Amino acid sequence: MKKHLSILGATGSIGTQTIDILSSIDAEVVALTTNRNIKLLEQQARALHPKLCVAFDEAAAKELKTALADTDITVLAGMDGLVAAATHPDCDTVVTAVVGMVGLLPTLAAIDAGKDIALANKETLVCAGQLVMDAARRKGVHILPVDSEHSAIFQCIQACQGNALDKIILTASGGPFFGKTAEQLKMVTREQALQHPNWSMGAKITTDSATMMNKGLELLEAMWLYDLPESQIEIVVHRESIVHSLIEFADGAVLAQLGVPDMRLPIQYALTYPERLPCKVPRLSLAEVGRMTFYAPDNQAFPAMNLARHAARRKGNVGAVLNGANEAAVGRFLSGNLPFWKIPQLVEKAMEQVPYQAQPTLDDILASDRAARQAVASLAAAQ
Ligand code: NDP
Ligand code: MG
Repeated sequence: MKKHLSILGATGSIGTQTIDILSSIDAEVVALTTNRNIKLLEQQARALHPKLCVAFDEAAAKELKTALADTDITVLAGMDGLVAAATHPDCDTVVTAVVGMVGLLPTLAAIDAGKDIALANKETLVCAGQLVMDAARRKGVHILPVDSEHSAIFQCIQACQGNALDKIILTASGGPFFGKTAEQLKMVTREQALQHPNWSMGAKITTDSATMMNKGLELLEAMWLYDLPESQIEIVVHRESIVHSLIEFADGAVLAQLGVPDMRLPIQYALTYPERLPCKVPRLSLAEVGRMTFYAPDNQAFPAMNLARHAARRKGNVGAVLNGANEAAVGRFLSGNLPFWKIPQLVEKAMEQVPYQAQPTLDDILASDRAARQAVASLAAAQ
């Protein structure tokens, strides 16, 4: 069935890979958004003829409007623009490929407008999983995972035939610093953190992979998507990123989805589900892979996973605090204002400082996010 897509974050790693697979599927683009990369957005708009283009940044939106003046494409800015893209009447599916908590309001608006969500923006579920999943159930919309691990689980679940999952096993590459001790992590640089061994991704998620916070966020994402407690979600380090994740049944049988590490397959499956179409991604040759390795994660050197497990047990506003603090700390690290090893330390302190709320409203979630960022700013300034 033909899809009518709004792609939020079209100029990023997931956004551009989504556009790359459009030629393999039956889809039309209704809206495209960026933060500031209007050069690329203009190229994309001229090739794909959407009805709406959005630059979150106001100044960039002004420039984009001038650049697209010879077309009949509407240009908008800011959060209103993102929400307009997410709820456009001609769109049926929203690809949420913006990075960070900024994806929450547009995602909720899209669900409210009855759109299916191809969800890459994991921060949305980490912050407000309860609100998002409740809204999706109420509206009867699909949340189709794009994240490779969650897509793997989703694909395996097709074989469940109504049987409950006993366990989800999320694989983690271990990132560039796998095997390093806490002491050695004190020496690592921004450039080293941005060298991911298997995946080419945006700077924020690449840093999250280096701290292992990405797997922590994915644990929370899996908990909300598949309604399992954290005690039934296991993490295993798998250096080659070929086994994208696994599920285990009551009888101990384990199913996995395998493939080369390339996001275009999970993106395409989210957009063609339940159908499968030929895909540009190279085929897996197990003989070429030769050997696959698996290890227990080191939660002492990489404490982010413990913080995420704590957030998963407590629920409430704790996910929003963890995420807001992490976004703030990673932002500081990427701009050269925080050493790598302090990222999880500041997140932990912010989690101790922001008061707990068991049943947060959307406003509470937004306030918790702000409080967490503020806590990181004060903690960093005090060091
Ligand atoms: P990128 O940084 O490559 O791209 C992010 C996109 O969002 C860009 O289009 C960017 O615009 C836009 N953007 C950034 N900040 C804002 C803002 N404040 N308001 C509006 N738009 C904004 O990120 P990725 O593609 O790597 O990741 C996107 C999401 O997908 C993240 O949540 C990530 O965790 C998730 N994900 C990514 C994977 C990957 O392989 N990359 C794998 C699995 C999940 P601009 O171009 O102007 O910066
Ligand atoms: Mg992932």
